[in-house]
Amino acid sequence: MKRRKLVAGNWKMNGVTADLGEVAAIADAARDIAEVDAALCLPATLIERATCAVPGFAIGGQDVHQAQSGAHTGCISAAMLFDAGASLTIVGHSERREAQCESDGIVRAKSEAALATGLAVILCVGESESVRDSGKAVATVDSQLAASLPKDSHRRLAIAYEPIWAIGTGKVPSIADIAEMHAALRKRLIATYGEAGEGVRILYGGSVKASNAAEIFAIENVDGALVGGASLKAADFIPIIEAGAHTAT
Ligand code: PEP
Repeated sequence: MKRRKLVAGNWKMNGVTADLGEVAAIADAARDIAEVDAALCLPATLIERATCAVPGFAIGGQDVHQAQSGAHTGCISAAMLFDAGASLTIVGHSERREAQCESDGIVRAKSEAALATGLAVILCVGESESVRDSGKAVATVDSQLAASLPKDSHRRLAIAYEPIWAIGTGKVPSIADIAEMHAALRKRLIATYGEAGEGVRILYGGSVKASNAAEIFAIENVDGALVGGASLKAADFIPIIEAGAHTAT
């Protein structure tokens, strides 16, 4: 099945007003690359100003609370993200799963809350280095996905396979290992959603750069990328979006 590639940036805890120029440069370039969907998941403090600065370009959050409102000091609901102009959000990033002790059940609830509010969701899964070394990566990530997937709703859902040991390290799994994992995740999506699981995009994330993007995008069932460090500067991120266009299926 043909799936449009999605190249999304995750700025993490980086970015202030002075960086909005990078957002504008990325959005300008992305507008001319019609074959690929591009997005930036920004710190919550920048979302509203970014959506005003680059109308029509997809700006997202990096996390969302599972409740719509209430006594959750410091948290942001899906309705708040939507109200600020966001059209998508990441959920279940390994940095949150680890540091905020987010379980698969919480990640599932977050994705359900976001989808119900009209946001698109990038749901992250991935194994640690010790799990990879033990030979149990596929089984572990498959059960993580099974337990994190939103019930029923798959429209506007994308998955990001992000091996934890590849995030920000410059290490990338072999082509064969990425292909094996993405095939297993596709199988899980079809088992959960039936034929519609074919339409859910599976992104790869972990040390994607201009120099390796084309090779990664050419792998079967790789439908784009979630990019951290290399999404902060237009000069680094735009070539990755362009690589997506060259390998568009
Ligand atoms: C990420 O944290 O989502 C990520 C993929 O980071 P990096 O591209 O820097 O490895």
